[in-house]
Amino acid sequence: MEKTFAIDFDGVIHAYSRGWQASGDIYDKPIPGAREAMANLVSQGFQVAILTARLNPKFDDAPEQKKKIITWLAENEFAEGVHYHEVTNNKPSAIAYIDDRAVRFTNWDQTNEVLHDLVNKGGY
Ligand SMILES: [Mg+2]
Repeated sequence: MEKTFAIDFDGVIHAYSRGWQASGDIYDKPIPGAREAMANLVSQGFQVAILTARLNPKFDDAPEQKKKIITWLAENEFAEGVHYHEVTNNKPSAIAYIDDRAVRFTNWDQTNEVLHDLVNKGGY
């Protein structure tokens, strides 16, 4: 079985400093270290999937988004087979999911605390 790492795009690979823009543009530079980390995983024989909600088929522009992401990756020197293997919105079976919005689950008491703080302190 292929051993995969699933890596979120916005906020993990693409710096996304201004969040989502109405145009859906990918406007920012890569996050420092992303290229090297992804190449390192691939060179160790892991599969790297870029997992992004930009390709949610509910969005009319999902096919356009895929083109924008592929173009951005190429312009920023991320190569298929060297830094990643696929760009998808389908959650793959993976060793780990690397995501700036993730909450690491250990148990519901701990998770409820995290969610309570998130909801009450805002900033999301
Ligand atoms: Mg993100």
